[in-house]
Amino acid sequence: MGAGSPGDAARQADLRAADAAGDAHKAGPEMRSAQETGAKRTDPDPDDADQPGPDQTGPDQPGAEQPGGEVAAPERAGPRWSRESRRALLRRACLVAAGAGLGAVAFAEAADVLDRNLPIRGGAAGATEVDRGPHSGAGQIAVTWRVQTDRKLVALTFDDGPQPNWTELTLDTLDRYDVPATFFMVGQRALKNPGVVHGRMARHEAANHSWRHNDLARADAQRAGDDLRRSHDAIAEVTGQEPALLRPPYGHLGGGALLAAARMNYRVVLWSQQMVESEFPGDPAGHARHIIDQMAPGTILLAHNVGKPDRLVALRGLPRMIEGLRERGYEFVTVSQLLGETSRSV
Ligand SMILES: [Zn+2]
Repeated sequence: MGAGSPGDAARQADLRAADAAGDAHKAGPEMRSAQETGAKRTDPDPDDADQPGPDQTGPDQPGAEQPGGEVAAPERAGPRWSRESRRALLRRACLVAAGAGLGAVAFAEAADVLDRNLPIRGGAAGATEVDRGPHSGAGQIAVTWRVQTDRKLVALTFDDGPQPNWTELTLDTLDRYDVPATFFMVGQRALKNPGVVHGRMARHEAANHSWRHNDLARADAQRAGDDLRRSHDAIAEVTGQEPALLRPPYGHLGGGALLAAARMNYRVVLWSQQMVESEFPGDPAGHARHIIDQMAPGTILLAHNVGKPDRLVALRGLPRMIEGLRERGYEFVTVSQLLGETSRSV
């Protein structure tokens, strides 16, 4: 409410009438109300500035205007106020000034938003950008953990490569059993180790797992986009495939990465089951049995073809796991083939 509105004038008239009657208590609730308003305004504002995004942080947002308007009121009414009420008003003015100070903090936050210094205060990156022109890409994005299907399909996925020895061991096993898989590659590693996968990806799918495995959850869309584009190009160059899928490092997903992925027409693929090597140290057969027992149709299974030596349990148990799953009627497909199964069944 502005200082000059009819409602405000009526409230000032009420206050003057109360003062004239010597009823100092009347100012009490009004003061508490100011205090509450101040508390409400100052506590959530810094966070609010983060959450709604740039759209809601226009000139109205920080709330410095309202307190300023209220501060002006006592000066106009000054001569008619009793000493007691003046003290109350002084306290009230202090509260309002404090509110304005905290409002200034909120305003600084809002300035961050308007300057697009995202993510704000190290928090999660927003999934929208203001005034950057129309978004390219499909305008939407799907995030998949698994696929609903009655068919016994499973998609093996291997993250973090390509890496000499590790990826070669994996590819050798998959070749031996004629099993397709999806490799979520780190772009920088692909460029460093092109010979590991060169000529060996025909039955497999190459997908994007970022440029150098940095956590993209707090990256804004610009930085995430640069990272993913660089990785995309490296993987395409080394494998001859244009990645269509993104798995963000650590499965961490922020708004900036999501927007960047949408612009690149990616589908985000996480997982619904994963290798648990640390639970079966030195026991590849036991680990394989565990994975087979847990398996369900439409599973996307996370494995790694890079890492500490104890991760080799999964890769050494891979032949047994493949045999066991086939015995139970499972068929191996790439993630994109599994996703195609979704669209067919809908
Ligand atoms: Zn990874």
